Amino acid sequence: TIRTRFAPSPTGYLHVGGARTALFSWLHARKHGGTFILRIEDTDLERSTVEAVNAILEGMTWLGLEYDEGPFYQTHRFERYMAIAQQLLNEGKAYHCYCTKEELDTLRAEQQARKEKPRYDGRCRHRTAPREGVQPVVRFCNPDEGEVVIEDFVRGRVVVKNSELDDLIILRSDGTPTYNFTVVVDDLDMQISHVIRGDDHLNNTPRQINILKALGATPPKYAHVPMILGPDGAKLSKRHGAVSVMQYRDEGYLPEALINYLVRLGWSHGDQEIFSVDEMIELFDISDINHSASAFNPEKLLWLNHHYIMHSDPLRIAHHLRWHLGQLDIDPTCGPDPVRVVEVQRERCKTLVDMAKASVFFYKEFEDYDEKGAAKNLNANTLAALQALETQLWALGDWSREAIHQVIVKTSETLGVKMGSVAQPLRVALSGSTVSPPIDVTLELLGKDTTLSRVGRAIA
Ligand code: GLU
Repeated sequence: TIRTRFAPSPTGYLHVGGARTALFSWLHARKHGGTFILRIEDTDLERSTVEAVNAILEGMTWLGLEYDEGPFYQTHRFERYMAIAQQLLNEGKAYHCYCTKEELDTLRAEQQARKEKPRYDGRCRHRTAPREGVQPVVRFCNPDEGEVVIEDFVRGRVVVKNSELDDLIILRSDGTPTYNFTVVVDDLDMQISHVIRGDDHLNNTPRQINILKALGATPPKYAHVPMILGPDGAKLSKRHGAVSVMQYRDEGYLPEALINYLVRLGWSHGDQEIFSVDEMIELFDISDINHSASAFNPEKLLWLNHHYIMHSDPLRIAHHLRWHLGQLDIDPTCGPDPVRVVEVQRERCKTLVDMAKASVFFYKEFEDYDEKGAAKNLNANTLAALQALETQLWALGDWSREAIHQVIVKTSETLGVKMGSVAQPLRVALSGSTVSPPIDVTLELLGKDTTLSRVGRAIA
């Protein structure tokens, strides 16, 4: 059975690189009816924070990457790590190392002088007696001979000689476990079948495989995913703009747009760009992950966002629009149903922030008219049109889009002007600006009372 995991270190927000790794792991599990596990790697007590854990959980939920098991916290599993270290000690596969910092510094300096790679030489392997006054670390006894072979789904065959590796510290002198060791114990206990992670971890993999083998386990299969670059080719970072998943929410992106964007960042299926989640699950294959790094393209993400704003279920979009209206201090119950607002606004809006801003006037009286718009549309020349509209609209019984349309047509005919000369002043009167959804629908959604009071304000 397939079991995958996402194992973030909670030292900051969920960034797009992590989200993409999570997505690939999630898709691989979903595709094969497997299990997706969330594991919080919080053993670095100095850098891990509760806020970061919450930010990661929030990001996963917002993206819809639900996990079947977890979240597991490594800090809750220290006893287990110590027990496994003890087991390795008992079996002679690990040993106490009493080397002092000074000794290790000297060793490193000697190796550097000989132009060798710094590497612990295993001098404590055969030590029989403890050393007075020194708290030992526990080191894993790495094999000296042979090589480790990784059949990586992305990198292909990677071979590392054991002579290149040294005896990794698995417990520090204070008894706390080290990163590579906790990963091994967890991947084993959680019966992970596929490890999908960033290729910055590739160096750790042979060490982890050796420990797994020493524990009698069959190592999982690996897929090391290349990093994400900024549009300029440097590693994606804050200076390229948003890298946090929740910042994309704040900037008005739909989760389905970001998910679709991320799946294509380093994976492809022919030249198809748009994938529903069901399609991704069906078509995704870890063997198809690109071998080379991919560059983040904000324009393409924006394009996808507009696509999903146009095509997602209006009920879903309205759910997100309500949240964005709330961010602008708007109570979405004080006006038209946001589902209808989505239907009339979606064409013009690339983000939900745009949509929310352009829809505030439906829910709240605006303060000032757009200056140019008012100068051009609310003046002596348009007064007659607005007055005629006010009378007609006041008398209108059926407040429907069609009936409203007829009133505007008739008013322009009676005054002998183009429809725009009536509609545009009306638009500025109602929305404060020269851009809004089609005018008849705008009136319908605003309702009769609000419409009349704003027309009244414009001609007062
Ligand atoms: N905790 C590691 C990280 O956040 C991931 C380790 C792994 O996936 O094995 O980079």
